[in-house]
Amino acid sequence: MKILIIEDERRLALLLKQGLEENGFTVDLAHDGAEGQFQVENYPYDAVLLDLMLPEVDGLTILASLREQGNDMPVLIITARGEVEDRIRGLNLGADDYLAKPFDLDELIARLRALIRRSRGKPSPLLTVGDLAIDTNARIVSRAGIDISLSAREYAILVYLALNVGRVVSRTELIEHIYETDYDWDSNVIDVYISYLRTKIDKGFPLPLIQTVRGAGYLLKGES
Ligand code: CA
Repeated sequence: MKILIIEDERRLALLLKQGLEENGFTVDLAHDGAEGQFQVENYPYDAVLLDLMLPEVDGLTILASLREQGNDMPVLIITARGEVEDRIRGLNLGADDYLAKPFDLDELIARLRALIRRSRGKPSPLLTVGDLAIDTNARIVSRAGIDISLSAREYAILVYLALNVGRVVSRTELIEHIYETDYDWDSNVIDVYISYLRTKIDKGFPLPLIQTVRGAGYLLKGES
């Protein structure tokens, strides 16, 4: 899951990035409103953490413009304590949630996860595909009741496929949701991780859950 943080307080932005990365998110940073607006309108983030008081373009303007374009990317606004009117304006402009500074990192993570799940029509933190179960709070994966140990990238790919269960996801889409935008990835990196995932998830089971759709991408599917 890839998050864009638009926050001009660099120390806070870096702390948030680090905290989110430790919890399995991929994070891009924007330190002013113009940069943030460009990124949010050009890359498919799973959610945006949007500060309101920003240089160049303020957060409410970015939010209003995004929604006018019909972009329903989940947006969580962060405001200074006491900016009640701004919070209300933000929600009325189409923000999905808000937090007032200073906030607790665990609360932020819980809210982001809930926003992302709801945006994919999956309100429960437990994702199941056939006999595969992913506890997205504890980050525990099991198949047929047996725990499976995954690397951070393998887990990120599996969760993305599970949030989009039954839909073919292209390699490009996976890369866009798993790597930082300026990351210098190799074009076959996804195939390599999928082969690792197949060994861990599907090997030894009569029904493979990860399917390749030639020329299109990958699909996670619970029934044959
Ligand atoms: Ca600010």
